[in-house]
Amino acid sequence: MLEKSLRWIRPVIKNIKAYHVPDASGLIKLDAMENPYQLSAVLKTELQNKLSQAALNRYPDPSAITLRNKLKQVMQVPVDKEIVLGNGSDELIQMLAMAVASHDDDVCLMSFEPGFVMYKMIADFVDIDYVGVSLREDFSLDMDSIRQAIKQYRPAIIFIAYPNNPSANCYNESQIEEIISIAPGMVVLDEAYHPFAQTSFMHRLTDFENLLVMRTVSKMGLAGLRLGLLCGHPAIINEIDKIRLPYNINVLTQVSAEFVLDNLVCLDDQARLIRDEREQLFSAMSANTELQVFPSQANFILFRVLNKSADDIFNSIKSSGVLIKNMRANQGLLKNCLRVTVGTAEENKAFMLALTDAMNK
Ligand code: PMP
Repeated sequence: MLEKSLRWIRPVIKNIKAYHVPDASGLIKLDAMENPYQLSAVLKTELQNKLSQAALNRYPDPSAITLRNKLKQVMQVPVDKEIVLGNGSDELIQMLAMAVASHDDDVCLMSFEPGFVMYKMIADFVDIDYVGVSLREDFSLDMDSIRQAIKQYRPAIIFIAYPNNPSANCYNESQIEEIISIAPGMVVLDEAYHPFAQTSFMHRLTDFENLLVMRTVSKMGLAGLRLGLLCGHPAIINEIDKIRLPYNINVLTQVSAEFVLDNLVCLDDQARLIRDEREQLFSAMSANTELQVFPSQANFILFRVLNKSADDIFNSIKSSGVLIKNMRANQGLLKNCLRVTVGTAEENKAFMLALTDAMNK
């Protein structure tokens, strides 16, 4: 009987390994690039008051106009550009993919690897091709391969995570400009980690009509709200907006995000703390000659374990009570690599102790 249903599920879906979120109960959580800080007690109380007045019996404002206007201002979106909101930037990637998906043409998405896994997963969800172009060993762009791949595959959309996840670096700016110029379609600069990189292509929207800039509030300290934005030429945003499900930004998210954006200085302070902590963590880790630590412009650090098994180090750190991310690679650019999110000073200290202990075993 079950087969009656399951036989309709596309093979590509059956073959997908679901996006795995490990259980972090009881552990210091340094695996998902979250901001470790909460809002202050005063702001929390004010927010609670606002939330208690939200009309849960009504649908939210479908266009979230107040929130959109605030985001445009705070994120310095050029005045002649438009934005569309997603339930996290993951949903925006999905909307983009759905907008270009076609059964008649050879449509494909392109990105660079190792990179953010959702670009490929979503291409599979909507049944279009995905081309991943390998980065160089130092995670910089391999321009010869990219030029060749663009010529060969004519991608509808190229996703560029800036900084990249999991390598945490920002690519060379003039190389990105070249990619935007030679791309036959749209180029999405995914600036999820913007608060920690402080460099952006947002102001370049004015120079390139095929450029879109994507941001999220997740890494700023509001991961629980699920809110992302895509900025670009109004004609493109208008098309993407047609795919957006009505009321995708719920009323509690709208109220909370509007409130926090009015008090943005608290998140800015937290981002500054995280950037400072990142530098300290980077120096501490780099002092260990058994580790190759990659420079970071994000709120996480990628590192390679040189003469031991990354699996053993990961497990040992976990048994000391700290959860980081195992890149699970036996070969390739991420061989024997682990990724740690920058936490509070105490969390980072606990991680360093656990790491040192694991390396000395
Ligand atoms: N882009 C990149 C590069 C990411 O690393 C992530 C999350 N890890 C996202 C987008 C998705 O962010 P969200 O859906 O929380 O907005």
